[in-house]
Amino acid sequence: MWHQCPACGLKFEREAGYFLGAMYISYGLGLIAIVGIGLMLWGFTDWTLPRITFWAILLFLPLAPTITLFSRVLWIYLDQAIDPELPTPQNQPPRGSN
Ligand SMILES: [Zn+2]
Repeated sequence: MWHQCPACGLKFEREAGYFLGAMYISYGLGLIAIVGIGLMLWGFTDWTLPRITFWAILLFLPLAPTITLFSRVLWIYLDQAIDPELPTPQNQPPRGSN
């Protein structure tokens, strides 16, 4: 993941622990994905609930990195909407980069 946006110079991790809020989004998205996979397994198989739960979590695991990145993007959008970071000389993109 980039530390700074190459186009506008926005610093992504504004402070230590900045992405803690993204973990809440990630948790919600992960839960939605697991329940969705579980409902599909429930609809297409005649498995028991513990078996459906196990396989839903296992099938969710490959999606975890994508959901983590997506939740960070959503977190940055939410944070910029509430508390926008104004351009300063430190967070300008390097000259001649485009
Ligand atoms: Zn940008």
